[in-house]
Amino acid sequence: MRPLWVLSVVSEAYPLVKTGGLADVAGALPAALAPEGVKVVTLMPGYPAVMAALGNAVAHPPEPLFGGEARILAGSARGLDLLVLDAPHLFARAGNPYLGPDRRDWPDNARRFAGLALAAARIGLGALGGWRPHVVHAHDWQAALAPSYLRHAAGSGARPASVVTVHNLAFQGWFPASVAAEIGLPPEALEEAEGGHHGGLSFLKAGLQVADRITTVSPTYAREITTEADGMGLDPVLRARAGVLSGIVNGIDTREWDPARDGRIAVRYGPESIAARGGNKAALQARFGLEADPRAPLFGAVTRLTGQKGSDLMLEALPSLLEAGGQLAVLGSGEAALEAGLRAAQAAHPGRIACTIGYDETLAHQIQAGADMLLVPSRFEPCGLTQLCALRYGAVPLVARVGGLADTVTDATPEAIAAGRATGVVFAPVTAAALAEAIRRAAGLYRDPGVWAGIQAAGMRADVSWREPARAYARLYRAMAGG
Ligand code: ADP
Repeated sequence: MRPLWVLSVVSEAYPLVKTGGLADVAGALPAALAPEGVKVVTLMPGYPAVMAALGNAVAHPPEPLFGGEARILAGSARGLDLLVLDAPHLFARAGNPYLGPDRRDWPDNARRFAGLALAAARIGLGALGGWRPHVVHAHDWQAALAPSYLRHAAGSGARPASVVTVHNLAFQGWFPASVAAEIGLPPEALEEAEGGHHGGLSFLKAGLQVADRITTVSPTYAREITTEADGMGLDPVLRARAGVLSGIVNGIDTREWDPARDGRIAVRYGPESIAARGGNKAALQARFGLEADPRAPLFGAVTRLTGQKGSDLMLEALPSLLEAGGQLAVLGSGEAALEAGLRAAQAAHPGRIACTIGYDETLAHQIQAGADMLLVPSRFEPCGLTQLCALRYGAVPLVARVGGLADTVTDATPEAIAAGRATGVVFAPVTAAALAEAIRRAAGLYRDPGVWAGIQAAGMRADVSWREPARAYARLYRAMAGG
């Protein structure tokens, strides 16, 4: 197999910079692809955290980029082979990659991320001397203009193949039409990006029109986004390009998420020692101030508290959870009204409902190891990672039948239970009533220890690693690069 080179263009990558699941994917894929003969070099912005982590970098000569000088630094950090766009006028700012200290988008985000995409295109066309990638892989709207710049700059000349991956269609990179003048794309390239109910132009829409391939992070989400109901205004574009659109589910880092080796949990265990989870349940109940009741079905949630994640539905379904004898432990942060709703529920039902508002990796592991079920009632979910962690930890996922949740959890129907295939509880439609019904059903299954242990064991045996997804990406890249 000849090595195939991929330039992954992305605005965040774990463990360097993370605001969401995108960083997990961008951080994990390079190592997972190495055994497939695919070499990934990651191009990312030179935020302070990235500059600080970069060791022994080689600097390429500076070039003007949107009002300042920019150079590419080649090096590595935390296991990633990196090209870093060192452009202090765009990226030398502390804090969140997208938001200023006032929690609003940086006013020059169009230039910042058009700059990232333009740098990718320059590299793709050979700006770094002898090295050229076979494939440019642009993640989300922040990188999505890379195929547009590639096409524009290459004209009829040779250029690498391009793929845009949509990690969440809700984020489309809309800007006022006036930014067109600043970012150096010809009007015909930007016409493709115009319109929609937002007016202005969308970086994602532009990239989706011209990329050679489009992927998203699950097959069901790939279908959903071509419909008017879930296409978020871009469904006409996605329908037109359905022939090159496919879905590949994400994996999780199974070394980081391994209940047999996890140093953050009270008791370690594996598929053969599921009963040992009881110690983690007791620890979790103590940590959250819940009643120390080994028999109460303990529901957990690790989530952004938003409408997308159905956090409001979870609040509405609380009476059913309590009637079913359940307890709830939530770790999350997000919309103020939802945070307040959870705090109020905790105050009204001490010992039964508890929340920790915030972001806490250790507590996330402890919930996965100690909860009996993990609630994921998302209205839409491109892939979802928490249900994959739950499967691996024997916390039975209770999920909405949407996107990647539908693709990764097998509902505990009588047939699936009998066949040993059931791994969770899946509900539809995504309403509070259907969620409440699913909670009652899950509590019923929980009270049948033989059935419950079978569901847990099937989930823990499911392959949630990056191995199969990496193979699918490798096949895609090879098809794009001509074999
Ligand atoms: P998102 O749409 O938020 O990216 P995913 O399920 O794809 O949802 O990924 C969320 C990731 O962030 C998971 O790794 C999850 O464990 C983690 N996470 C979410 N909220 C919290 C939190 N409050 N504390 C710790 N980890 C969290």
